[in-house]
Amino acid sequence: MTAEIADWTRGGAGIAYQTCTSCKAVWYFQRGFCPACGEGNPVTRQASGAGTVHARTRVARAPTEELRAHTPYLIVLVDADEGFRLMAHGAPSLEIGDRVRARFVELVDKKIPYFERVLG
Ligand SMILES: [Zn+2]
Repeated sequence: MTAEIADWTRGGAGIAYQTCTSCKAVWYFQRGFCPACGEGNPVTRQASGAGTVHARTRVARAPTEELRAHTPYLIVLVDADEGFRLMAHGAPSLEIGDRVRARFVELVDKKIPYFERVLG
C-alpha cells in the first residue's frame, strides 16, 4: 500500500506522514519505529496538505548557492490537520494562524510543498 502514497521527499507530489498502530502517535519524518513508544511497524499515510501556520521565518540569506536566487523567501512551520508538524516554503504574505494548503512547485530541480492561504 505504501507505494500508492505520494511523498515529495521521494519525488511525488504529496506529503506523507506516519502513525503508530500501538499508541496512535503521529509524526512526519519516516522511520522504522514509533518515536513515542518504540513500537515497530508504523503505518505510512497520505496527508491532505491542509494545516495551520504555527511559525514563520523570512530567509534573507540562503543556505545554498541554488537557493540564493530565490531570496528572500518564507519558511513556515505548519501544524498539519493530521496532527504532525512540518517545515516548508510558503507564500510571503502568510501569518501565524493562517489556514493553508500545500501545492507542489519545482525548486532547484525538486518538487517541494509550498503553502498558500486558503479562505474559510
Ligand atoms: Zn507508539
